[in-house]
Amino acid sequence: MPPLLNPVFADRPVTIFQVMTALANKHGAINLGQGFPDEDGPKEILEAAARAIVAGPNQYAPVLGVPALRQAVARANKRFYDLDVDWETETLVCAGATEGLASAFLAFLNRGDEAIIFAPFYDSYAPMIEAAGAKPVVVPLRPPEWRIDEDALSRALSAKTKLIVLNTPHNPTGHVVDRDERDIVAAIARDHDLIVICDEVYEHLLFDGRAHRPLMTMPGMRERVIRIGSAGKTFSLTGWRIGYITGPAKLIAGLMKAHQYVAYTCFAHLQTAVAAGLDMGDAYYEDFVAGTQEKRDLCRAGLLAAGFEVLSVEGAYFMTVDIRSVGRKDDLAFCEEITEKAKVAAVPVSSFYLDPPAAPRHYARFCFCKKREILEEAGRRLKAHFK
Ligand code: PMP
Repeated sequence: MPPLLNPVFADRPVTIFQVMTALANKHGAINLGQGFPDEDGPKEILEAAARAIVAGPNQYAPVLGVPALRQAVARANKRFYDLDVDWETETLVCAGATEGLASAFLAFLNRGDEAIIFAPFYDSYAPMIEAAGAKPVVVPLRPPEWRIDEDALSRALSAKTKLIVLNTPHNPTGHVVDRDERDIVAAIARDHDLIVICDEVYEHLLFDGRAHRPLMTMPGMRERVIRIGSAGKTFSLTGWRIGYITGPAKLIAGLMKAHQYVAYTCFAHLQTAVAAGLDMGDAYYEDFVAGTQEKRDLCRAGLLAAGFEVLSVEGAYFMTVDIRSVGRKDDLAFCEEITEKAKVAAVPVSSFYLDPPAAPRHYARFCFCKKREILEEAGRRLKAHFK
């Protein structure tokens, strides 16, 4: 008899975020494990959503998304990256980036295809590539810089390679892909005629004056790249599940064919509110990045004071530490220890690999999109535990 459940999912444990969050709750720990902000996004957007619930629309939105949001996505592409985008054929609204990624894998991958992902990686990539019948081929990023290695990427290519997933700013490391890395990926994508799925959910969180440069802006990339953004990340509204995708008409039309069966359509009233958000003035985006950078610095100071070696963070809201600096070797045991004893939760970086036992085991990730006082208290607790 065939197995009752699909092994792609059944053979995987529940995500590490669920595990560490449950442990954090059990021990009353500050949860710097799961990556969600503890303050909701701008009041203007919340109020626009509240108004839209009363006034409508509350019925099925168009499959590609509410026009107001798709128009705003096209405007944002022009405003931030000077990309000319036709909102009618080149944008699609998805139920968070997670659904957009899943629908993209289902739409673009055939059985037996290979998809290249860089490890560590956001946890939905591998299972959804497998669920599409394809094989994730993992290219490790080398710590502590976590840069893309051209030789390693070239070695991963085969006649079956169909696409590459590129995430920048990067979860869990906070690395931001630089010009050389963009050139490497673009050249390989061009030479091997690959699609690149750019997971750019942290596109508005780059620190120390860095600017996000989508791969899509590079020569020859416009016709082969899809770019995924998230209102959850850009407006600190992770519970809303609104993401948006930009890409060439052919790929968007293909993606829509999967999306129509996975999500069908997304939250109509929230889409109109997110449209208002994308059009907010520069001050919102500047304050968002400045405030998050301040939190990064606060988190870093607390971890340094507790005796950790802290890796640099160029974007997103995650910070990794080398746990050997406090005499620990196993990242999962370390995360359990600090959750139970120091009452601060983190997540093991090995859980962002296909084969955690074979992954580097000496890094842990802390999420710093939390209130100042929470980050300060977490630092105090870790210092007391390790000193
Ligand atoms: N990609 C990356 C790299 C992420 O970190 C996350 C969220 N943690 C997602 C995608 C999913 O975003 P969403 O909440 O919009 O589904």
